[in-house]
Amino acid sequence: MATATADALSKPAQEFLARGPGRHFIGGEWVESADGRMFETIDPATGEAITEMALGGPEDAARAVAAAREAFEGKWGATSPSKRSGLIWALAEAIKANLGELAELESLDNGKPLGYAKGDVAAAVSHLRYHAGWATKIEGETIPFSAPDVLAYTRKEPVGVCAQIVPWNFPLLMAIWKLAPVLATGCTTVLKPAEQTPLSAARLAELIEEVGIPAGTVNVLSGDGATGAALVGQPDVDKVAFTGSTAVGREIGAKCGRELKRVTLELGGKSPNIVLPDADLELAIKGSYEALYFNTGQVCNAGSRLFVHSSQYDEVVSGLAEAAKAARVGPGLDPETELGPVVSAEQHERVMGYIAAGRDDGAELVAGGGTPDGSNGGYFVEPTLFSGATDEMKVAREEIFGPVLVALPYDDLEEVAARANDTEYGLAAGIWTRDLSKAHKLAGMLQAGVVYINNWGMGDPASPFGGFKASGIGRERGHVGLDAYLELKTVIAQL
Ligand code: NAP
Ligand code: MG
Repeated sequence: MATATADALSKPAQEFLARGPGRHFIGGEWVESADGRMFETIDPATGEAITEMALGGPEDAARAVAAAREAFEGKWGATSPSKRSGLIWALAEAIKANLGELAELESLDNGKPLGYAKGDVAAAVSHLRYHAGWATKIEGETIPFSAPDVLAYTRKEPVGVCAQIVPWNFPLLMAIWKLAPVLATGCTTVLKPAEQTPLSAARLAELIEEVGIPAGTVNVLSGDGATGAALVGQPDVDKVAFTGSTAVGREIGAKCGRELKRVTLELGGKSPNIVLPDADLELAIKGSYEALYFNTGQVCNAGSRLFVHSSQYDEVVSGLAEAAKAARVGPGLDPETELGPVVSAEQHERVMGYIAAGRDDGAELVAGGGTPDGSNGGYFVEPTLFSGATDEMKVAREEIFGPVLVALPYDDLEEVAARANDTEYGLAAGIWTRDLSKAHKLAGMLQAGVVYINNWGMGDPASPFGGFKASGIGRERGHVGLDAYLELKTVIAQL
């Protein structure tokens, strides 16, 4: 595990890595893959291997699902709501107590600046606390019948065994978004972290064991896309929850459709961010910068299409270009870093491919566009800004998932709403204005699962998140997020 950045880790993080190659956490035991296969997880700041992890195959997926079934029908199924609530809270406390270590592992594995990683871990704690409250508040209703002497009521029951597949951009936080409603509703799960970022989920599994959540309730299966596919294919999985690319989401949705497994999908986006002529421009420039470059642009709800009124277009573009050129790009574990590397060599190649396509199509590069000097094998990309693109260009239509922003001028509200909606996606949208009445009118016109007004990316465990159109199916967070893990049963009694 000797890499330049790994040497900067604290003792607890070093000790975690020194415990040796990662294993699966199945039925409360730490196990290798049945066929002994392993894979390397890479430090994106150096391109060097950090450690090895077990690579799950179909046999391991079957074993993990069986463990989850046993817990569902056994110990976890018999755990009272208030006990579940206490365990969720205890997990939140354990994560909080290990915040620094978890953030370091996340930063090392994903490349994100340590400060952002700490923010992710803190958000995971809040998310669990919110769900600890819900465990004791899952209620049915009594239903009024017109016929006499009928007692009708609904019960909300856990859907059962879940398969949950998470991406690499917010590895721990996305795992917690998945696990929290499972634990609150009384389901069990097999969680598969992304192959690029398996470390924080492995540490999380240790904490799950430590706080005493019964064996088999949460199983963690490390591996790649084939591991995920093997998990989704297990006949005894009742529900699948997936966050990742729209292409894989379509595949998983189709599979679940055939077998009528419950499924929620949180997929990609090409979200429009609209600056109205009466916006506070300083705030809008700062917010639009963060909307795209935060997490090196590797955010599903990144504000990647920036629409600016033509009267202010030049001012906004030059403000953004200035900020992009000044950004400090570097390893996540370096405290000076504002923009970490992208997560993998594959992602680096993809992003550079999009930058080349933008140039070839005739868009104008006003900032960045290259790999910074001194990258030394790390997957760094300069924060990049395109002007002079058309809505039809690849850079303005496809999800890049990297630090590449496309600025587009517009002239009136109806026009910008139509252009903003002219995409297969519908995850997020942003509006910057001092005229709140106009903002709410525009919010109603935009096809997006979340609309931000005078901010980008704010969220709360209580606020639902998910997409319209090809950005997904279903919502996570809030009380509606729990419904995806519950079956509704109606009981009708003739008295
Ligand atoms: P991806 O392939 O969709 O990966 C997401 C998760 O699904 C990972 O855990 C992945 O495992 C797993 N997976 C892959 N193929 C699968 C299959 N056939 N069945 C079940 N699970 C499967 O995303 P990616 O390749 O890492 O990134 C590609 C693009 O996806 C990005 O450039 C970006 O546009 C988009 N993306 C979106 C989000 C989001 O938050 N919505 C997050 C990440 C990526 P492995 O990683 O181990 O292969
Ligand atoms: Mg992949």
